[in-house]
Amino acid sequence: MGVETTHIRSFVAIEIPGEVKTFLSDMSRRLKGFGGDVRWTRPEGIHITLKFLGNINPDLVGDLRDALTPVCARQMPFALSVLGTGGFPDMRRPRVLWAGLNDPDQALVPLAAQVDSALEPLGIAREKRPFNPHLTLARFKSLKRSSDLIQAVTRVAGIEGPAFTAHEATLFQSILRPTGAEYTALCRFPFSPE
Ligand code: ATP
Ligand code: MG
Repeated sequence: MGVETTHIRSFVAIEIPGEVKTFLSDMSRRLKGFGGDVRWTRPEGIHITLKFLGNINPDLVGDLRDALTPVCARQMPFALSVLGTGGFPDMRRPRVLWAGLNDPDQALVPLAAQVDSALEPLGIAREKRPFNPHLTLARFKSLKRSSDLIQAVTRVAGIEGPAFTAHEATLFQSILRPTGAEYTALCRFPFSPE
């Protein structure tokens, strides 16, 4: 058996509550009416990625747990809310459509940086790109027939969604299937009050 087949695709993320998924699902449903050559994400799977690990050896999961448990235990639960929409890299030639996050305690950026640093000793490369917390709504396959969708997204660029509290981070395995990625929680890392 080749080494690759035993590796697991993984990432660390914050899950969002059901009412936020419902809000995003309603927004996506309205936007779908504008067409575009895009693949919409499944609302159940929408999350805030803190760190994409890529393919790792499953033997590393114990070390990942040991590295991330103290990082998350030092983090207090924090408030977030859905705020705005946009595209990566921009709305002129977007590859990804996202909903944004209001992070009044400014917790996400430092938390992602700490996760990144804690994993480096395990041989997981540091993220070179700036961390941009977001909720992925759709990915463009091409920009064909996309102008109505882009306009519609621009009209809701200031939309305000539900508030929620982030209580934990989760290490997920991602299995890529033709029907979309399937995520399985491998480890949970609670944030601690005080
Ligand atoms: P699919 O790839 O089938 O569209 P997906 O992107 O949801 O599905 P993965 O590619 O396994 O599934 O990605 C898991 C998470 O990690 C997603 O939030 C994705 O946006 C993020 N991600 C994937 N690749 C990278 C990368 N190279 N850098 C940063 N984040 C990434
Ligand atoms: Mg992907």
